[in-house]
Amino acid sequence: MKWSKHFRVKPGQAVRLADWDATWTGSFKDKDDARDGLRENIARMDELQYLLYAQRKYALLIVLQGMDASGKDGTIRHVMSGLNPQSCYVQAFKEPTPEELDHDFLWRIHHAVPGRGEIGIFNRSHYEDVLVVRVHDLVPRRVWGQRYDQIKAFERILTENNVVILKFFLNTSRDEQRVRLQDRLKDPTKRWKISPADFAERKYWSAYQQAYEEALTKCNAAHAPWFVIPADHRWFRNWAVSQIIVEALEGLKMKFPRPKFNAAHIRIP
Ligand code: AMP
Ligand code: MG
Repeated sequence: MKWSKHFRVKPGQAVRLADWDATWTGSFKDKDDARDGLRENIARMDELQYLLYAQRKYALLIVLQGMDASGKDGTIRHVMSGLNPQSCYVQAFKEPTPEELDHDFLWRIHHAVPGRGEIGIFNRSHYEDVLVVRVHDLVPRRVWGQRYDQIKAFERILTENNVVILKFFLNTSRDEQRVRLQDRLKDPTKRWKISPADFAERKYWSAYQQAYEEALTKCNAAHAPWFVIPADHRWFRNWAVSQIIVEALEGLKMKFPRPKFNAAHIRIP
């Protein structure tokens, strides 16, 4: 069975996050049990990235979304650790700059989309414009309300131009977020990551869950699917994301390009 199927939101399916167990670990007992699988996937991603780069037909866009402390940074650090930096980059989307705010919300996003042969990873994305923006009324409802269709149209343009889009919602529970924030408070090597605003943001948990449900429901398409990843266990999250990336790249049936010359006729002087 393809694992991707298990985690993906089916086209037309209404997402209710309460139905998605954040603690699920499939048939794995524990971290050790999943270690080999993750290692194999990371090695396979390296091979497939090489093919992607050689063939220069497709681009891969990986979108990571999730609540604070859901593990977006950790996913990048672990799952992407075997990729060749030559054709892979990460773009983190923070609060828009004044210049970015003077443009449409997709302006900064489109600019960061990977080119053919490349893998681009978005740490947050255009979805913030229907998440934080919606939860905090940063623009009127009329404006963010139109964005679901705009995002769908945008993603369609990309996929019709050979950008393969995989969107991951790292689904963590409210209890697990508390543990992780507590951890960040205590650990001096993690304290730099947090601001008092992160704790204040927890008060909006249910508004965020609702906004996520709507985004995952309305902006889910066969060509640009959402995957809901059980993310309370970091090791399972890492395995699941790597597994889906491998399956998607293998599904492209990529081939090395044929040389435009006859190698047998060439003599190296
Ligand atoms: P972090 O990912 O923890 O570095 O935080 C980035 C912050 O930027 C988060 O609080 C996001 O909600 C915020 N952010 C990202 N995109 C937008 C946006 N389009 N509008 C407002 N805030 C945003
Ligand atoms: Mg943060």
